[in-house]
Amino acid sequence: MNYISTRSETGRIKHPSAYVIKQGIADDGGLYVPETIPQLNEEDFRTLIKMNYIDRAAYILGLFLTDYTKEELTAAATAAYGRRKFPSPPVRLSQVANDYVLELWHGPTSAFKDMALQIMPHLMSLSLKKTGEERDALILVATSGDTGKAALEGYADADRVSIQVFYPNEGVSNIQKKQMASQSGKNLCVTAIKGNFDDAQSGVKAIFADKDIEKAFLDKNLFLSSANSINWGRLAPQIVYYVSSYCELIKLKKIKLGDKLNVTVPTGNFGNILACYIAKKMGVPIGKMVCASNRNKVLTDFLNTGVYDRRRTFYTTFSPSMDILISSNLERLLFMVAGAARCAKYMRSLSENGIFEVEKEVLDAIKEDFCGFFCDESSTKDTINSYYKSYNYLSDTHTAVGLFCSGEYKRQTGDNSAMLIASTASPYKFAPAVLSSLGETVPDEEFEALRKLNRLSGVRIPSRLSSLERKKVRFDKIIEKADMKKEVMEFASKLK
Ligand SMILES: *Cc1c(COP(=O)(O)O)cnc(C)c1O
Repeated sequence: MNYISTRSETGRIKHPSAYVIKQGIADDGGLYVPETIPQLNEEDFRTLIKMNYIDRAAYILGLFLTDYTKEELTAAATAAYGRRKFPSPPVRLSQVANDYVLELWHGPTSAFKDMALQIMPHLMSLSLKKTGEERDALILVATSGDTGKAALEGYADADRVSIQVFYPNEGVSNIQKKQMASQSGKNLCVTAIKGNFDDAQSGVKAIFADKDIEKAFLDKNLFLSSANSINWGRLAPQIVYYVSSYCELIKLKKIKLGDKLNVTVPTGNFGNILACYIAKKMGVPIGKMVCASNRNKVLTDFLNTGVYDRRRTFYTTFSPSMDILISSNLERLLFMVAGAARCAKYMRSLSENGIFEVEKEVLDAIKEDFCGFFCDESSTKDTINSYYKSYNYLSDTHTAVGLFCSGEYKRQTGDNSAMLIASTASPYKFAPAVLSSLGETVPDEEFEALRKLNRLSGVRIPSRLSSLERKKVRFDKIIEKADMKKEVMEFASKLK
């Protein structure tokens, strides 16, 4: 299986997956997509239904990463999702009212990013070997909180790969800050910037395109790569849990093979929901995908009007991992629906004018699969409260956005097919907002807030979060966003 860029037209350059995972972003600035989508037939489903999560992961990844051997993928999936990192099974399906909540946050950092970032370092190390790469990699990450910690945790002390993380100082929770600032490992660096997530992401993109950096890195026998969800090695592992959930619901006799399953995904960078779309294109009988946004509802507006307009106020919300105005992975959907020429045109317009509009037939095609809803701050709080009071289900702020939007979808369309809702973080990762949603006073001290939420709900605190309190802060630097390049140069100069 080969991969092509979303922005180059005829006479395409194609690359195998190891190259694409090593590279992150294509030379023309586009994102890599598989040339064709592998199809699952009935036989595949029967096989998958009998498997556990690790074997399903190896099976499904094997369809996309055809230059990795079955043994390599099974070893990578076992290291990533085995008992040392995750409980068994790694993902949990809870029935809440008539819906299925897919809890993706039982990994080491209590957020769904672990699902991809625990396995990606293994795929990356293998890719250096497979491509005969002699240079070492420096992974550069812009994060709105959860990616940073999950990437640090995944790459800490990895072989031949270092990692540098930038996060918006005001855009992440205190727990997220502490998680990143206390990360152990010799091969990593964490820096806060004055600005929002888009500033961090734009800064990282500029560094990737920077000629001085390129030259300095060549001299040091280093190259830059990404762990953001623009990297295919991040996206592919996310397809697995959508295929797996469908199989699991069959195994649990909740649905039969062929039954329609709608899916709601709390969305920021559009990576998670795009993985769901690819699962659907593989033949998983997914119906509508509800794209759930918070008050930064650029995607809701796009899905309703066909106009993507990022020229708007940026809000800091209770669901900071979704505070995003440039949803990078939307580019992959636009390519798959509208083709490379139109995709390149939209992206040019977005970068030059901050806006683009898709043709009516493109919007109609997108609407066959997707619909967009958003949840404002007060509805987020009300949803946390009402799910706890009505169903004894404690959700975090991001998941609450999904729960609310799935309810809106059902109310407005009358479509009552089975619904799967992706749950993306442990409620303890955002304990102050959860407590205040439940009408409780919030202790000043964040770890006291964890304990209070635990006393109230009886829900266990993930041990990696409770032990965080005693950890020492290693990284406390805050820089201007204009200084990111300097910071990268400085870190690179300290490597080896
Ligand atoms: C990253 C994240 C999201 C958004 O996922 P995307 O793939 O960027 O759309 C939602 N919730 C949480 C908790 C996250 O960490």
